[in-house]
Amino acid sequence: MKLLNLKNILAVADQHKFGVGAFNAIDSNFIDAVFHAAQTNRSPIIINVAEVHLKYIDIFSTSEYIKKKAALSGLPVCLNLDHGLTFPTIEKAIQCGFSSVMFDGSSLPYEENIAQTRKVVELCRNHGISVEGELGAVGGDEGGALESAADEALYTKVEQAKEFVDATGIDALAVAIGNTHGKYKGEPKLDFQRLQQIDQAVSVPLVLHGGSGISAQDFRKTIELGICKINFFTGMSQAAIQSIEQDVRSAGLEQRYNYYLIMMEKMQRAISDTVAEQMSIFGSVNKAELYGKP
Ligand SMILES: [Zn+2]
Repeated sequence: MKLLNLKNILAVADQHKFGVGAFNAIDSNFIDAVFHAAQTNRSPIIINVAEVHLKYIDIFSTSEYIKKKAALSGLPVCLNLDHGLTFPTIEKAIQCGFSSVMFDGSSLPYEENIAQTRKVVELCRNHGISVEGELGAVGGDEGGALESAADEALYTKVEQAKEFVDATGIDALAVAIGNTHGKYKGEPKLDFQRLQQIDQAVSVPLVLHGGSGISAQDFRKTIELGICKINFFTGMSQAAIQSIEQDVRSAGLEQRYNYYLIMMEKMQRAISDTVAEQMSIFGSVNKAELYGKP
């Protein structure tokens, strides 16, 4: 199956009221684990490659690996540049065959966010690439592990949402409704009323960033209220580390030449289990068939 763009992968989710998980690709262990979970659960997936992670990984070889895995899987897969911040990186993503670009202009003044997001849409449209924009600012640092709480002053404003979507021409809108990147400080408190109002105001599917730490019940409620894409990374990273924590501290480890392989297997299983759990919460299990035959 050819990669699906974000618009097409989310249209089905929107219609059938489920969420598609957007899981970050860090290395082949993460990528293999996500594909394993998707295949076992017959779930559509979005693979995120984040601009902030490009200091650790190479976008060209990583995207080739993902595209090959996607073609072999026969599943509905979207390859998304996560938090695109600069035009050179967005151009690289286009060159690499990404089917979706998220442009994060959330730190810019409102008018500037509109102008730059609009430019990204114009750039991507000719290639059939979807664009996700962000209005308001999701708390936390998407590149770090700092604990953070959302700032209400930066929540998406309902009255700006429609204007932003219309003026930019984006295909999906990331909202700030109390969600935050990284690890939540205390219990996440989502503003469901605001979410509902945004959903009623705009025609495009909505996106929830900062998925690690939100309860299953809250996830289901957000999907009910219009969320179609959920970004999830921190939970995978935590699961991987927890799976090998004890072993790394055990004596005699250095005597085992194959420890790296054992560790790799454990991490992959832990990531895959976490991803599968999210798929079941998001309601995307067995939804691959809704996209037609590969
Ligand atoms: Zn994010």
